[in-house]
Order: sequence, then C-alpha cells, then structure tokens
Amino acid sequence: MLSQAEALYALQKIDITLTKNRKRLAEIATLLASNEQVKQAQHALDEAITKLNPLRAKAKDIELELQTTQNKHKTSEDRLYSGLVKNPKELQDLQHEIESLKHRIETLEEQSLEAMILVEDATNIVNEAELALKQAQQQAQQQNKDLMIEQNKLEKEVETLNAQREKALQGITPENLKTYEAMRPKKANQPVAVLRNGSCQLCGIEQTGFIIENVRKGKELVLCLGCGRILVEVL
Ligand SMILES: [Zn+2]
Repeated sequence: MLSQAEALYALQKIDITLTKNRKRLAEIATLLASNEQVKQAQHALDEAITKLNPLRAKAKDIELELQTTQNKHKTSEDRLYSGLVKNPKELQDLQHEIESLKHRIETLEEQSLEAMILVEDATNIVNEAELALKQAQQQAQQQNKDLMIEQNKLEKEVETLNAQREKALQGITPENLKTYEAMRPKKANQPVAVLRNGSCQLCGIEQTGFIIENVRKGKELVLCLGCGRILVEVL
C-alpha cells in the first residue's frame, strides 16, 4: 500500500506525460491543418501568374495591331500597283500612307519581340513556381504521413495513461486530490517533490530532521520548507 505522498507522486508522473502528449497532439493537429511551405509556394505561383497575365494580354494586343497594320499596308500597296489611282495628289497621299504604315509595322515588330521575351521570362517563372509547389506538396504529404503515425501512437499512449490515472486515483483521498489539483498550476505541474539526502530535489532546500521524520512516517502530507511542495521519499 502506497502512502498518500507516494500515490500522488505516481499520479504526477502520469500527469506530466499526459500534459506533454496532449501538447504534442495539439501541435500535430495544427501542422496537419496547414503547411507553411505549401502556402508559400502557392503564394509564389499566384504572384507569378498575376505578373504573366497582363504581359500575355499586351503581347496579344501588339500582335493583333501588327496584323491589322500589315493588312492595311498590303491593301494600300495593291492599290498603288493596280494602276487604278492616277491622280498625282492621290498617288502621293497613298505613297505617304504606305510609308507611314511601314514605319508603324517596324515599330510594332520591335514591340512584339520585346513583349514576347517578357512573356517567355514570366512563363519560365510560372513553370518554376509550379514545380516548387508540386515538390512542397509532395514533401507535405510525406510529412503528414509521419505526423499521422506519431499522432496515432500518442493517442494510444494517452488512452493507456488515462486508464492508469483512473487506477492511481483510487489510492488517493478526495481531500488530498483536491490539494494536488489546486497546487498543480502554481507549482509548474509538479506539486510533488522528491526528498533525497535530506533535501528537496526541486528547490534544493535542506529539510529539518522533524520534516524528514514525518515524510518517512508517511501518515500525512508534509510540505517542503522552501517551495511548499508535497515531499515524498522514493526508494
Ligand atoms: Zn522544495
């Protein structure tokens, strides 16, 4: 039969592991719900696409204008060489128009080339971002697999510990359990301290002979002179 201090010490051991496991389970739940690398990779991809789209639209606009201008140029040239225009003033205007269209075509061809280079660069960035996202997703999947294995293991441990706790509670009086629970938050989850070589193992304070004697008798809970924890002698 364990003394009350010994029973409380056994309970504390269970509670410390339970607290640790529950904290880790909460962490795992957060990790499973969100993966930072995937989020960042997705953000980078979205950004790359946002940059590419207007560049593509601009390149297309230039291409369309170039085609229209080339068509106009051809029509005007056909007209010039058709021999149908005989009026010198009209002929001169037509030649000016053809010259002007030719300049416009040259400018548009240059602009089109520049726009195509920009589209190509931006497309490369999108492709790289897509690849990075895929890799991040694959990594996250593997990580999730490992996390789920750990989660499963911890959940089983918590179940076992809860059963052990139920059993441990049977050896503790309601009054002492109340004391223990009240002290837990105030004593960093360790309301019970081991007495070794006459000193409290948690605060290091040496105890009086009277206290040591009472701890050994194990008839009532004896508190440490220094930190006020319940003292237990573990053999
Ligand atoms: Zn102490």
